[in-house]
Amino acid sequence: MLTLFASAAHAERPGDTLPVCVTRAQTGMTPLRLFAGKTAFDCVSPQSVLPGGDYWAISSPVHRTGPLAIQVASLWQKRITFYALYADGTVVSASLDQHGAARHLQLGAIIEQSLPERNAPLLRVLWHIEGTGNMRGILRGARIVNPQQSVGANLKMAGLYGGFAGLCIALLTYNLALWVALRYRFQLAYCAMVTALLLYALSSSGALAWAWPDLANNDRIRINYLTLGIAAVAAFAFARAFFEPRVFGGYLGRLATVASGIMTVATLAFAVFAPVAPYLTDRAYTYAFLAQMGVAGPILWRAWRLRSDYLGMFVLAWGAPITLACLRAFSSLGLIGWSFWLDNSTLASMTIEALLSSIAVAYRIRMLSRERDVAREREIAALLLADTDSLTGLLNRRAFLTEVIGRSGEQTLLIADLDHFKRVNETIGHDGGDEVLRVFARTLRESVPPEALVARIGGEEFAIVAPADVLIEPRAILEKLRAGRMPYDVTVTASIGTCTGPLLREVDWKALYACADRALFEAKSAGRDRVRGRHLPDRWAA
Ligand code: GH3
Ligand code: MG
Ligand code: MG
Repeated sequence: MLTLFASAAHAERPGDTLPVCVTRAQTGMTPLRLFAGKTAFDCVSPQSVLPGGDYWAISSPVHRTGPLAIQVASLWQKRITFYALYADGTVVSASLDQHGAARHLQLGAIIEQSLPERNAPLLRVLWHIEGTGNMRGILRGARIVNPQQSVGANLKMAGLYGGFAGLCIALLTYNLALWVALRYRFQLAYCAMVTALLLYALSSSGALAWAWPDLANNDRIRINYLTLGIAAVAAFAFARAFFEPRVFGGYLGRLATVASGIMTVATLAFAVFAPVAPYLTDRAYTYAFLAQMGVAGPILWRAWRLRSDYLGMFVLAWGAPITLACLRAFSSLGLIGWSFWLDNSTLASMTIEALLSSIAVAYRIRMLSRERDVAREREIAALLLADTDSLTGLLNRRAFLTEVIGRSGEQTLLIADLDHFKRVNETIGHDGGDEVLRVFARTLRESVPPEALVARIGGEEFAIVAPADVLIEPRAILEKLRAGRMPYDVTVTASIGTCTGPLLREVDWKALYACADRALFEAKSAGRDRVRGRHLPDRWAA
């Protein structure tokens, strides 16, 4: 009742929120009669329990002089009319339709109506609110401020929102540039999320109405819902691309798709149908939003179960924004009380989200490049393995041929074959034989200059190719082999056949190999443990 205000009357300080009482508008209600105190206002019920429609709201008594303005939070309504009662009995009024409300919007989405300066003190304020959707209340955040307070609040808000916008633009530019270089899908989802948050901040702060003076205030509110909805869907698309694919495999992938689908439909439904059913579409939107946020629970669970590398990062970057978003949704459903702190947490949580998820992006890129490095190392290892003879570590026949065929200029080919190797195997066993092959391979490698290619091209047959002008001493190789320490101290010798000629094409290889093999046969026939050389064409045969 009106008398309830008596105790609060002198507690009011400049800039404080004024307590207000409301009553449903009925025919015959006039500002004068309402100021006269003949009507019972409801000061007790929370506004959220009241249905949408037309209302009157009255402030607690005030006693203020000087240049003043009345502020109220911007809410969904068709028209709001301000009535100010002065001590000399004068009532001053101003009526704002949605375009008027947008033009009177201050940063922080506050509608401000300045009052003419009068000698008599301002006693009380009355509002006529027509067509309220009552989604977040009928009249909220009523304040009487002086011009300094108004300018100060705008400056503070401009600083905060300007900082946020700058942060978003920097992160966007940076991440788009990174996307051009790296092309990871989550980078695009991140950019979409930050863009939507930036647009949401632009619209919900009221700055959009400054940039676009013809905007209707309810349309601006529709843009708020739209951009926030897009931000939520983009955020979950980001999460989905951010985690390892296994986290969103199976039911969770379907759940996330369904939740995002519902959120998209609810967002579009509000954007389109809010003018006809603001309350209903708002509730649908709020529940869809909560459902979307609720998917974070199963995501965390799955990520933990599957030991995702990104769980910690996700909790760090998203914990606060998701919690705050849920609390705000609960508050708009009337499940928890409205608080100034909660209402103003949007900017802080958006900042946390944009900033920390950009760190998450960096972390993800780091993990991906690490994965890529490992894959590349493996690939190189696999390639090496495919080119290498596993017993000796020398090139295998295939890799050797790829390397040598096509060389221009005269090349010398040496074929080295162990003598009576079957006997060696019989004497010291197959494993011993393998060890002999390894020692022989090492001996060959160490005996030739680095530009010579050494390969194992058969069981106990090795080949060396080098440009003809590179000095290779086959006799020195044999000497070294003879002196080398072998398993069980067996004595091992080898024969070498050499041939010099072109090696440009495959036929050259065949000719050169046949020639060196002939030389090898000569070495074997001449008693083994020796070298024989030839030259192509065979007219230079040694
Ligand atoms: P020659 O002096 O005429 O070359 O006589 P050889 O016994 O060395 O010649 P042959 O070509 O008849 O025999 C080669 C042997 O090399 C037969 C095979 O058992 C052995 N051998 C081939 N590959 C391997 C291997 O990887 N490990 C071992 N331990 N022995 C091998
Ligand atoms: Mg042999
Ligand atoms: Mg042989």
